[in-house]
Amino acid sequence: MVVLQEVKSHYGKLNLFIDGEFVESESTDLHPVMNPARDEVIAEVPFSTKEEVEQAIKAGEEAFEKWKEIPMPTRIQYLYKLKQVVEEHFEEISRIITQNHGKIIDESRGEMRRLVENIETACSIAYTLAKGEQLDQIASGIDETLVREPLGVFAVIGPFNFPAMAPFWFIPHAIALGCTVVVKPSEITPVAMSWLFKVMEKVDLPPGVVNLVHGSKDVSQTLISHPDIKGVAFVGSTRVGSQVYRLAAEHGKRAIVQAGAKNFIVVMPDANLERTIPALLTSFYGNTGQRCLSGANLVAIGGIYEDLKSKFLEAASKLKLGYGLDETVEMGPVVTKRAKERILGYIEKGVEEGAKLILDGRNTKVEDYPNGYFIGPNIFDEVTPDMTIAKEEIFGPVASIIKVENLDEAIETINKSNYGNMACIFTSNGKWAREFRRGVQAGNIGVNIGIAAPMAFFPFAGWKNSFFGVLHGQIDCVDFFTDKKVVITRWW
Ligand code: NAD
Repeated sequence: MVVLQEVKSHYGKLNLFIDGEFVESESTDLHPVMNPARDEVIAEVPFSTKEEVEQAIKAGEEAFEKWKEIPMPTRIQYLYKLKQVVEEHFEEISRIITQNHGKIIDESRGEMRRLVENIETACSIAYTLAKGEQLDQIASGIDETLVREPLGVFAVIGPFNFPAMAPFWFIPHAIALGCTVVVKPSEITPVAMSWLFKVMEKVDLPPGVVNLVHGSKDVSQTLISHPDIKGVAFVGSTRVGSQVYRLAAEHGKRAIVQAGAKNFIVVMPDANLERTIPALLTSFYGNTGQRCLSGANLVAIGGIYEDLKSKFLEAASKLKLGYGLDETVEMGPVVTKRAKERILGYIEKGVEEGAKLILDGRNTKVEDYPNGYFIGPNIFDEVTPDMTIAKEEIFGPVASIIKVENLDEAIETINKSNYGNMACIFTSNGKWAREFRRGVQAGNIGVNIGIAAPMAFFPFAGWKNSFFGVLHGQIDCVDFFTDKKVVITRWW
């Protein structure tokens, strides 16, 4: 076993970054940050005081007045530099993500690649905006022009499962457009974002353009309700997301809220199973099932059911568990002890409600990491759509096989779900794929793809309870960070 070296074994008490400087928090509300594979403390995160959050907002507000006046091409030069320094520290940050979150190193590298793609996409914002939004002679001697202006300071609140990438669906775009940000990462996985701020320091952005605070509910609420915050970009669960959306509305703020999921993967009778099975493994067990784009319900159509079930079961039972810094490992632990208990609770519930547990990962042990929060892959068979395990987001390595007769029944089943983040179909038939794409109520659709994650130059979609708002993350947030002015001109 060759385990890649950890960047550090302990990162100390994490600092805040306010007005261009790292500052030690005065908070006495300290929480341990864990390595879930080893059950070891790797840092302490201080939950910022109200005064510290207000200082960060003030820094953002003051910086905004100057930052928005800097020409866009100059602002974008900072992003080129940011891309360069992030690339230089790519492997280091990937290892920190694995150490704090538990996902395997290749998944952390994938997260970092997507993060960089967001910076690259933000570098092209000038082209995105240059859409010819001027019309001459809309009336005799009158021209009309649309201009966009940056709005101010924004709060960016991240989830635990993509601690580096998810906030970067917003940060580079905000910077390019002339806005400033206060970032609050998840208190469970704050180390990667703290390290990214150390890396960002090398970019020499003017003080106050990017700020970092730590904490949980209270800090988020202080940010959202503060009069100088213009809006909130949030990624997290549906329960919290709906509260965030309400609070933002109550304070007249704009909000992008990307929330939880329960994703269906449909396998048609003509699917190429040799290719489908590896895609299913990544979809259901990649990131240990802790993705908003993880497969959760596996819908088998008609005659493929037996073959699909036996091949998926065989492949899933061979997955190698361990510490994600060992490059031979295929699945890491779940993120916390609490998450493990929650997932085990759902498995109990599935058994109680009559589903058949044909792969039981509950007691899986990893010899070298006996204290890690490991759960092996689980497969439930004979699941019906009304069961709790088929309806609620488990956010762990649990697959539920639902057998249906045909595509219409599959689409009908999917559309009864409260969520609509992703839906995928595996088939060799273009007509079925098209019917599925058109009929299914979900924002991200995969055709022979197990994780339908949009590239940075597409919006990160999501329907129903998986999303609250109008504009989505990634490229869509160009509109989010700006407001429109229409100028009607007549000269005489
Ligand atoms: P979470 O909702 O528990 O926490 C998200 C963030 O909100 C954290 O920073 C947390 O500190 C903060 N928070 C906690 N309570 C709060 C409150 N009452 N008010 C305001 N902020 C509060 O989510 P999580 O467990 O960190 O992340 C996993 C969830 O995120 C899953 O449901 C997953 O599906 C979802 N997710 C969605 C997407 C997407 O794009 N749709 C992407 C990644 C993750």
